[in-house]
Amino acid sequence: MIDKNQVRLMVLDVVKGLKRQGLAEYDTDISRIVRDTLKRLGVNRAIIGLNTRGCSYGNNLEGCFICGYLKGYEHPDRMYQQFLEGASHYACSDNVFLYSNGSFFDPEEIPPEIQKKMLEHLVALGVKQITVETRPDMVDETNLNSLLDSVPARYLKVGLGFDTYNDDIRDVCLNKGFTRQQYDDASRILNKNNIHFESRIVVKPPFLTEYEAIKEALLSVEYAFNKGSSEVSLEPIAIQDYTLQDYLAKKGFFRVPWLWSVISIVKETHGKGTVLVGGEAFVPLPKETACNCNKCTARVRQVINKFNETQDIRLFDNLDCDCIIDWRKDLDVKEIPLFDRIIKQMSERGSFQ
Ligand code: SF4
Ligand SMILES: [Zn+2]
Repeated sequence: MIDKNQVRLMVLDVVKGLKRQGLAEYDTDISRIVRDTLKRLGVNRAIIGLNTRGCSYGNNLEGCFICGYLKGYEHPDRMYQQFLEGASHYACSDNVFLYSNGSFFDPEEIPPEIQKKMLEHLVALGVKQITVETRPDMVDETNLNSLLDSVPARYLKVGLGFDTYNDDIRDVCLNKGFTRQQYDDASRILNKNNIHFESRIVVKPPFLTEYEAIKEALLSVEYAFNKGSSEVSLEPIAIQDYTLQDYLAKKGFFRVPWLWSVISIVKETHGKGTVLVGGEAFVPLPKETACNCNKCTARVRQVINKFNETQDIRLFDNLDCDCIIDWRKDLDVKEIPLFDRIIKQMSERGSFQ
């Protein structure tokens, strides 16, 4: 039997090489984003990009395989100042998203006293809902209780990077470094404290076929709703430099998910709760995001955006294009068992090495 950890280490070895190269070339200035995004659920959402030191899990060569975000700009002394500047632009927004390219609750990224000051400041400005995002393993009840001392739970919404219910896929295809049990624990703490949370589900981890990707996402969405998620956001994987999916795409082993796949997951799951399609806020900007053919991609993306705004599933009723035939062919692709497949794909020399 193939050992899961050996397979993971084999992939890690290659990804470390990619990231090493990326870090040498990396110059993306993220110090930076204060902007509006598309409406979600009928509400304008303002994003304040926080100038943190970056994801503490991703800021080393052993972080997630699929994340193109390699390094933050460390200006802890300026971070709160920069936040205040961002907040002043959006004093009248109902909904503010604090985008930290990592975990808001990670004390290494944002000291707990700064977390608290930021939330208090936004509430004082009249913001009705503040969304933060975090890895599940960073949800700590003691810290949360301290935040809730001054910020009532109804103001907070937490985006939890769950990705998949399947621990094998999380370990060998994503290298996320946490377990489903830790997601369960985070859900329990948030539920207990009446905090709404949105679970993020990745669509099409590297190495999965299109069909497997849909199947995994369906099971993951169901799992996330069963754990009390108020919303689920599907996150179709994008291709960014120095990532595993970029490496595999260059070898011909990876295609970004079809938008038809994303829509099929939405259609199948929207009856279980609020399902959204994410993937609009990537740093650094991806080379490629989920798509169909050149003829219909822009049109289909517009419909998806409209769906995010309205949750009207009928919007997908009359969508059509010739490329559905190619998508169906992709759904029919059969593969050898996952661990064998990973060993095979990683063993074949690609143009990137
Ligand atoms: S995907 Fe999230 S947890 Fe993983 S390295 Fe990137 S920012 Fe960090
Ligand atoms: Zn098309």
